[in-house]
Amino acid sequence: MLNIVIFGAPGSGKGTQSERIVERLGLNHISTGDVLRAEIKNGTELGKTAKGFIDQGLLVPDKLMIDILASVLDSFKDSKGVIFDGFPRTVAQAEELKKMLAARGREVSIMLDLDVPEEELMKRLIRRGQDSGRADDNEETIKKRLSVYHTQTSPLIEWYKNERKYFHIEGHGRLKEITEQIIDAITGRK
Ligand code: AMP
Repeated sequence: MLNIVIFGAPGSGKGTQSERIVERLGLNHISTGDVLRAEIKNGTELGKTAKGFIDQGLLVPDKLMIDILASVLDSFKDSKGVIFDGFPRTVAQAEELKKMLAARGREVSIMLDLDVPEEELMKRLIRRGQDSGRADDNEETIKKRLSVYHTQTSPLIEWYKNERKYFHIEGHGRLKEITEQIIDAITGRK
């Protein structure tokens, strides 16, 4: 069973590419951002807590995120594979994911790092904010999220390199070509 971590800064195209890969390869997709937004929409306690962090551009605490992930992991037991989108975002989450998968006789197959230049990320996120109205896609929050990415999330690049799972994807270019790079990486065509 494939366990794919799709990684990258906010606006790097994780969600878009995940959808395309799901369609092509018939995998399951878990986006922790989508899970949190659904909780907020449903007005749950978890949603209320998460909203406070998300609106400030901060990460939701590890403990909460790990509990969420643990609760969805078993629902994908018989799947061909899972794409983890937006998780892990800290080294603590990566360590926990490794443990949770190991307990089920699984491991991360590959970590795909969608690499996109910073000015392009800003442009995409501002555009997305205008189109989708996502509350955290405003200029001030975007800057905060990018800085959180650099300090808390980007250390995972080295972490996954050490695990020998890291795969660089050139994430700036034509949507279709980026998808092909990803499919090649997953299927080992390259
Ligand atoms: P995303 O849709 O992946 O950009 O996530 C939107 C927001 O949800 C992030 O800015 C965080 O506040 C929160 N979030 C999503 N996934 C995680 C995670 N794995 N750890 C902490 N916070 C998260």
